[in-house]
Amino acid sequence: MKITGDYRLMKKINKYLVLDMIRKHFPISRADISARTGLNKATVSALVNELIESGFASETGLGESSGGRKPMMLLFNERAGFAIGVDLGVNYMLAVLTDLSGRVVKQKKIELAELEAGAVTSKLKKTIRALIADVPPSPYGIIGIGVGVPGLVDDQGSVLSAPNLGWADVPLQTVLADEFGLEVVIDNEANAGALGEKEFGAGQHVSNLLYISVGMGIGAGIILHDALYRGVSGFSGEVGHMALAQDGPLCGCGNRGCWETFASEKALLLHAQTAVAAIRPAAEPDDGSGDAEVSVGLDMLIRLARQEDSQAQQVFAETGRWLGTGIANLVNVFNPELIVIGGPLSLASAWIKEAVHESLDKRSLAYHRSRTSVAYSQLGHTSGALGAASLAIQRFFSSMKATWE
Ligand SMILES: [Zn+2]
Repeated sequence: MKITGDYRLMKKINKYLVLDMIRKHFPISRADISARTGLNKATVSALVNELIESGFASETGLGESSGGRKPMMLLFNERAGFAIGVDLGVNYMLAVLTDLSGRVVKQKKIELAELEAGAVTSKLKKTIRALIADVPPSPYGIIGIGVGVPGLVDDQGSVLSAPNLGWADVPLQTVLADEFGLEVVIDNEANAGALGEKEFGAGQHVSNLLYISVGMGIGAGIILHDALYRGVSGFSGEVGHMALAQDGPLCGCGNRGCWETFASEKALLLHAQTAVAAIRPAAEPDDGSGDAEVSVGLDMLIRLARQEDSQAQQVFAETGRWLGTGIANLVNVFNPELIVIGGPLSLASAWIKEAVHESLDKRSLAYHRSRTSVAYSQLGHTSGALGAASLAIQRFFSSMKATWE
């Protein structure tokens, strides 16, 4: 009996390995899979046949031969199913419908004015429903939903705390699973963004990377040795609350002088309200209480910078300096290969880049930064949503593995 159990487990592991090879390296021949995995050719052929039967792989034309008969190449059926990924920002929601390789089929972005949990979840349901209505026909249909949220998420998919949304104890996973009857994964948005960059973006060939999501708050997804580092309770990466100044501005978390009070989109916009003449008439001055309303938008500021408004450009540069200062601290602690700056502020990379580098060069230790590069999200503002979709895709394949005989 024991031998049978071991054999079954081994077969599942091998089949998953073969599927992973096809997903990541297609078009690929059976011989290549055998060479890369060390599995013998008969085993590979049998497993490939099962994968073809279940709709995940298919055969295409003949590939290059290294002598002898040309091999039949295998493809991954990217459209065997579709995933939904949502990046829940503080002032927006971006949702994507992707195939199983993370290719975006459709996306929807909506602005969020009302942040109360009930209002946001009902918009979230509506947005997801609209994407589900547009899913192309496929053997597996919608395989799951992933949502990245700007806050702390427990292992039941409840949002324990999201200060920038004003949320506490919102059972988001249960709410969405009940509504749609699908597998739902909830994670922190910076974790989702880091996975998105690692799977599909700037971090594909890097083992140690930090993804810094800069929006109304700042969070980091930390990938060490190719895996997401979550910390003992799953709450790692709250870098926005690194204390950078003893008596700085009041932060949403209740402390003063946190990094995000200087370097976030919110800090940028508050600063712009008083420092940029072109938008000043539209905005109320900051009363210094730390909970000032933001009445200008990032889009508007980017437009001004593009039109060579020097005050707008200076405001971006100032934010860039603060970003670089915090990143220098992270480089000194983690000595990563790559820092990816993502989230809404990455859209302004043209005006923050130089200042980020200046601070980083000045404030990080030379030995630490010598092999660290800084990139701006290759996926643009979609890295969080794509990462959330990739969480759903990973969950789907691992539960698929559990059902294999
Ligand atoms: Zn804080």
